[in-house]
Amino acid sequence: MQAPTPEATGHPRAPLGFTGTLNSIEAMHRLPVWIRGDFYRALELARRFNDLVVKPMSGEVDLKVMEDNDYLPRDFLKKANEWGLFTLWIPKMYGGKGMNMLSLYPFMEEVSSACAGLANLIGAHYLGVSVLCSSCNMDITNRVLRDVVKENDRGRPCTISLAWTEPDAGTDQVQAPLLPGAKVRTQATKTAGGYVVNGSKVFISSGHLSTWHMLICYEDVLKPADTIVMLAVKTGMRGFTFGHKERKMGQKACVASELIFEDCFVPDENVCFDREQVRRLGITARQAGLKLIDMFPAVTQPGVAAISTGIARAACEAAVRYAAEKKVAGKALINHEWVQLVIADLYRNAVSSRAIYMEATYAAGLLSMIRLLFNKAIFYLTLVTPGWFFTLFVSPLFRLGIVSHVYRKMNFEMTSPEDERHMSGLGSLTKFTCSDLAMLNCSLALDLMGADGTRHDLGAEKLFRDAKLLQIYEGTNEVNRINLFSRHIAQVMPGVGVFEQGSGGER
Ligand SMILES: Cc1cc2nc3c(=O)[nH]c(=O)nc-3n(C[C@H](O)[C@H](O)[C@H](O)COP(=O)(O)OP(=O)(O)OC[C@H]3O[C@@H](n4cnc5c(N)ncnc54)[C@H](O)[C@@H]3O)c2cc1C
Repeated sequence: MQAPTPEATGHPRAPLGFTGTLNSIEAMHRLPVWIRGDFYRALELARRFNDLVVKPMSGEVDLKVMEDNDYLPRDFLKKANEWGLFTLWIPKMYGGKGMNMLSLYPFMEEVSSACAGLANLIGAHYLGVSVLCSSCNMDITNRVLRDVVKENDRGRPCTISLAWTEPDAGTDQVQAPLLPGAKVRTQATKTAGGYVVNGSKVFISSGHLSTWHMLICYEDVLKPADTIVMLAVKTGMRGFTFGHKERKMGQKACVASELIFEDCFVPDENVCFDREQVRRLGITARQAGLKLIDMFPAVTQPGVAAISTGIARAACEAAVRYAAEKKVAGKALINHEWVQLVIADLYRNAVSSRAIYMEATYAAGLLSMIRLLFNKAIFYLTLVTPGWFFTLFVSPLFRLGIVSHVYRKMNFEMTSPEDERHMSGLGSLTKFTCSDLAMLNCSLALDLMGADGTRHDLGAEKLFRDAKLLQIYEGTNEVNRINLFSRHIAQVMPGVGVFEQGSGGER
């Protein structure tokens, strides 16, 4: 398909994703060289963690949850904590170990190749961390993340969940253009000294196991896009309880929880984002809120894609192992030509999947909300500065309201509408492509293995169940396709309407 030129469409500049350069090529000279070493360190760590912790537990935890849906793999959390995995990717300025955030993606791929459910107990935590950081409220980010580090250092696993999906509003909330029409119910009512929250959240990954919850709710449920409120809620707060655990098909190790709020009072000091905080940014509350929810999927969706790649790889490996051992029509299955063709496809899908999420990974380092961390000067300065310096001299500054205001303004203004569109579209593309490839590989592997593929002990049926969820969470793949069309294609096709039905409002 020939891309229309900017002149032909009247647009000053075509969206980057449609006609622009590859982010990976840009990254070669713009990102710090040091990050390459972190990628290798993260991979090496993941491989050891897989051998010593994940592989011995994976099948057993899956079966345990099938037998008892209330079972929670607390032993795994303890182990992951002993390995430092909940603080390794927390920035140094917030008390963490400061491994570069981009190396988390190959780590997630590797651990997911052994078990996506256990991997997601780590991934869901960093989803919560990313959403907290994207609020650009440095005071609360600093306090919550330092609490996470302190608890984990004491040997008490402390993680963060993202509580956003509601019984009647999933995809509608995740995609910015749909939010104005979303049927949300969780309301935060402003009161003296804080907010009172009523409502419920469902399908919250690792909810029952998390200590902190990034709760996204609304001051006016009839005007969600104009009244977004993000709160840091701690397990044990009065008025906040856990409801049922979903009996879902895959990723059994990672509980999907209901969170219930009944007159739950959340004090001002736990408000990460609301209308009042963005009042002086020079943009409307709606623009600020939609920018916020547009920005973090650019960082979190490559994570879903990395988990998908791990599954695509594992399905390929399971098929190869099986084909090498199985004898059919007098010879090993792998020596049949059609099987070699299937294996070539499986391999192609896994390798392509990695290339796609790495492209989005580089883009996240260059253009997303975490880009400041990858500015070479800031990156190397942070690398050589000892943690105690941040604790003693930088941390107190975060309490000053002006610091968060300037940081938020910089972050919001540095992200141009073109970058925002590019990142949102690329996040969607990465998410639906890699999860579709994971699903395809699982299906091909099961076909190749015949009835044996359905046996739990061979692992392929678990991969199939685990993969399916990836096509659904962080916005269904259908809606992510529409978002890609909207952000990268419709932008250069004036007059084409996207997300019009029932969206209830323009930005
Ligand atoms: C295992 C698992 C873990 C999860 N973890 C979390 C978590 O940690 N935190 C969290 O907040 N949420 C979480 N979720 C929720 C997840 O993000 C949502 O399920 C997902 O966004 C899809 O929303 P939905 O289920 O409401 O589907 P819906 O949005 O209701 O979709 C139903 C159907 O309608 C289609 N559709 C929806 N909108 C449109 C439209 N505008 N136009 C055309 N078709 C449309 C969809 O493609 C789909 O086919 C999790 C879900 C799962 C399954």
